[in-house]
Amino acid sequence: MAIRVATELFRIGDVVPESGTYICVPCGYTQTFYAGELFTTCLACFAGTANGPEGFTEEDAEFWQYVG
Ligand SMILES: [Zn+2]
Repeated sequence: MAIRVATELFRIGDVVPESGTYICVPCGYTQTFYAGELFTTCLACFAGTANGPEGFTEEDAEFWQYVG
């Protein structure tokens, strides 16, 4: 279990540190990412883009959190 990434938030373009399920903090959508991939926007709320939820419309907004 990778405790070190459990409380960290990631943004679009960050390299995925650990394969597993990540949750979009603003909307609760979960998505599987694999180590070495780059994080993308959330398909449910488009966080990290101009169409994202309030407070998450900037490209450098951090919103993916590792859940396991
Ligand atoms: Zn979302």
